[in-house]
Amino acid sequence: MESRTPETSRHRRRRKHEYVCTICGRPQPFCWTCPCGFMICPYCMEENLWGMTCNGITWTCPDCGAVRGFGND
Ligand SMILES: [Zn+2]
Ligand SMILES: [Zn+2]
Repeated sequence: MESRTPETSRHRRRRKHEYVCTICGRPQPFCWTCPCGFMICPYCMEENLWGMTCNGITWTCPDCGAVRGFGND
């Protein structure tokens, strides 16, 4: 008597470190992040670059004002 239930409903697992851009609200493969929880994707960063950075090396979090680097820290 075999009572096997085939795994028909297999949900795709979400990655734990999923980025959701604060600006556009979309899940992204990469975002720059701030400890306060703010995230920004490369697209939104580019669009808001004039307001986010003045030197291209660091960007300022609009939520908490923290200065963040573009490098992957
Ligand atoms: Zn975005
Ligand atoms: Zn912040």
